Order: sequence, then structure tokens, then C-alpha cells
Amino acid sequence: MNEIILIKNGELALKGLNRRSFEEALSRNIQKAAAPCGPVKVFCSQSTMYVTPLEYADIDEVTERVSRVFGIAALSRAAEVEKNMDQILPAVCEYLRDELESADTFKVNAKRADKKFPLKSPEICVAAGEYILNKFPHLSVDVHEPDLTVTIEIRDAAAYIHKQPIRGAGGLPVGTGGRACVMISGGIDSPVASWMMAKRGLELSAVNFASPPYTSRRAEDKVRSLLEKVARWSGDIRLHIVPFTEIQEAIRDYCPEDMLTVIMRRYMIKIAEIIARKDGALALVSGESVGQVASQTLRALQCTDAAADMPVLRPVIGMDKEEIVSIARKIDTFDISILPYEDCCTVFTPKHPKTKPILEKVIQAEKALECAEVNVNAMIERAVNGTVAEVVKPR
Ligand code: ATP
Ligand code: MG
Repeated sequence: MNEIILIKNGELALKGLNRRSFEEALSRNIQKAAAPCGPVKVFCSQSTMYVTPLEYADIDEVTERVSRVFGIAALSRAAEVEKNMDQILPAVCEYLRDELESADTFKVNAKRADKKFPLKSPEICVAAGEYILNKFPHLSVDVHEPDLTVTIEIRDAAAYIHKQPIRGAGGLPVGTGGRACVMISGGIDSPVASWMMAKRGLELSAVNFASPPYTSRRAEDKVRSLLEKVARWSGDIRLHIVPFTEIQEAIRDYCPEDMLTVIMRRYMIKIAEIIARKDGALALVSGESVGQVASQTLRALQCTDAAADMPVLRPVIGMDKEEIVSIARKIDTFDISILPYEDCCTVFTPKHPKTKPILEKVIQAEKALECAEVNVNAMIERAVNGTVAEVVKPR
């Protein structure tokens, strides 16, 4: 019996004239996600996508991988059989044996897209119901709240017997919304923010600011491991590691202590934006949430935003830590995030950071760098030129 995966698209259905390009993107993403298990054919017909392994493939693993592809509302595995009742009925009992054995009640749901099929849907239901009751006499029919719904679909190419549907990842196919560049730290929030924006159809690049020797190689590896997890949903992520030590030291040496964090964050934004633009990204993404720490008050966010010329997307802005953690657990980044390696943001933290910095005063304070004859632009250029890029793959 040939086993395939049937896919119900999510929000895709709402996309009118763009629908075709959304379906093409989804189809490409499914093929990429399944590729490590072997090649699959994806085709779309009558608002369902069919994923057929072309060679032997572990269908459990293909299903698991496809369940992480954004743009899918629900998926179910299905047996593909010839379109005649002599084939369909025994196949139902064989394919759904475990489910039929463990249920007490069932109903049959038949869909007949091929109107030339000799039996109408209610007739298919009756025939299948009788056949099943005969083979599994412990069962009874319950059309309102059955333990098991046996779905039989008659389509143009074949008949399909469905396993129970599972929930898809939702969202929109990655790549349909353009590219954004995530500011990724080793913390809990920014991997979650990355995942949330990939879910809205964005392809991801990432920048991480590293300040060796204050931050270690292990902190960089941690960021890589986090992105490997996110990439299981988003696909490959281009990671840029920016050498930030010189800038941080200059800020520490010349700027007022209580503004170190906000000034540093403004430089992070400026540099991230240059890299993002080179990488074809139209927005930055950060894991900030209002009120979480001193640099995430509205005043502080106003100061960082003012350093940016592109939108800064903050998908976790209104979420509690608990809500963020529950997503981090779901996407399997939490255990990595809580490893105790330092981040450049925690290197020169002031004892009493300003929680309500005033933009004009921050800009004024930044002038201290120029007064000290630090060539700020040359410093930014060195950071950008010293950035090392790599591609992080799902793992
Ligand atoms: P997270 O859990 O994401 O680290 P956080 O609560 O620790 O967040 P901050 O350290 O203030 O908060 O960082 C806020 C945001 O700034 C992060 O979510 C991330 O987007 C960005 N950020 C922080 N550190 C770095 C870094 N070293 N490189 C790139 N971006 C960073
Ligand atoms: Mg952090």
C-alpha cells in the first residue's frame, strides 16, 4: 500500500491572486524539509497538497519534518489505493487496524470529488460501515461523537484512506514575506522572536555581536545551536558574527556609565542595519518585551528605534516571560538558552542603568566619543568589515 501525506493549507487559502506563488513556495519548502529522508513529489489539486515519497522513506520522519513547515493548517497520512470498493474496503481495515481495534465507536466520512465514481458518498459510508462492523464486531457506530472517524476520499487519481489529522505549524510559507535580520543573543527571547517571524513567512538572516575576550567561543557556539533549532522551522539562516569589542570599549571609556547600555544598543542597531541591508533584509527583528529590563522601557525603546532606519520587529513585545518560555520549550531552544555563557550585553553593565533615558540626552552623551577623537564611522566600518558570515542549517 502506497502511503502519502495530504496537506491542508492554512491562511494560504485567503491569498487570492497570489495563491499560486504561495503554493509554489510551500511546495518548495516541503521538498526541502523532507529532502534528508529522500526525494518527494509535491503536487496540488483541489485545494489539497499531496506529498509522495519517490523512494523508500521513513514516513514517520517525513511527517515530522513536514509538520514544522509553515503555511500548513493540518496534515494527515493516507493510504493511496485503486478506486474500487473491492480494494478500498480491505485496505481500510488493514491501514487503520490499530485505530479500529482500540476504538469503541466510529463513523465513516466519505468525500467524493470524482463524481464519476459509481457510489455516492452516503453509499460509500454505508458499504464501509457494514464492512468494518463485520470485521471488528466490538465496534458500534456513533455519528455524533465517535472515537474514530474513518475518512475515505475518492479523488481523480485514486482513493485515499486517512489517518487521524495532526495540526500543522500554521503561519505562512517562509520566503513569501521577504527577508528580515534577527538580532540574536544567547537568551530565551530572541530565538522565539526569530521563530515567530519565520512563521509569518519571513526568511531569516541573523547578526550576533561578540566581544572577545569578554565573550567566549562557547557563547558563539550557543548562538549557532539556537539557530540550528530555529532553522528546523525556518530553513537555512545566514549568520553574521560581528566583532564588537572595540566599540564597546570605546563606549565604556568615554560615555556616561548610566547610559552605556542604551548607547551600545544604538550602535548594535546601526551595524545590524548595514549588514541586514547588504543581505537583502527589509527589517530587523529583536526579542525585546516591554518592561523586561532597563533597556526595554518605552523610553529606552524610543532611543534604540531612533538609531534605526528600517523597521524593528519585536514579536514578543507584549508577551510575559512565561509565554515566551512556553514557545521556547516547544521549539526546543529553552535548554540551550539557559546555558550560562555570557553575552556582550552583560559585559559592561552599569550598576544603575537609566530606565528612562531621554533621546536628546543620549545623543548628547554619544558626542563624548567624537570629543575623544574616536573615529566612530571608521570603527563601525571595521566592525562591518570584520564580520564573519556562515550558513546555519537545521539540526
Ligand atoms: P534575550 O533572551 O533574547 O537575550 P534579553 O531579555 O536577555 O533577551 P537583552 O539582553 O536586553 O534582553 O537583549 C534584548 C534583545 O537585543 C535581544 O532579544 C536580542 O534581539 C538583542 N541582543 C542582545 N544581545 C545581543 C547580541 N549579543 N547580539 C545580537 N543581538 C543581541
Ligand atoms: Mg539576553
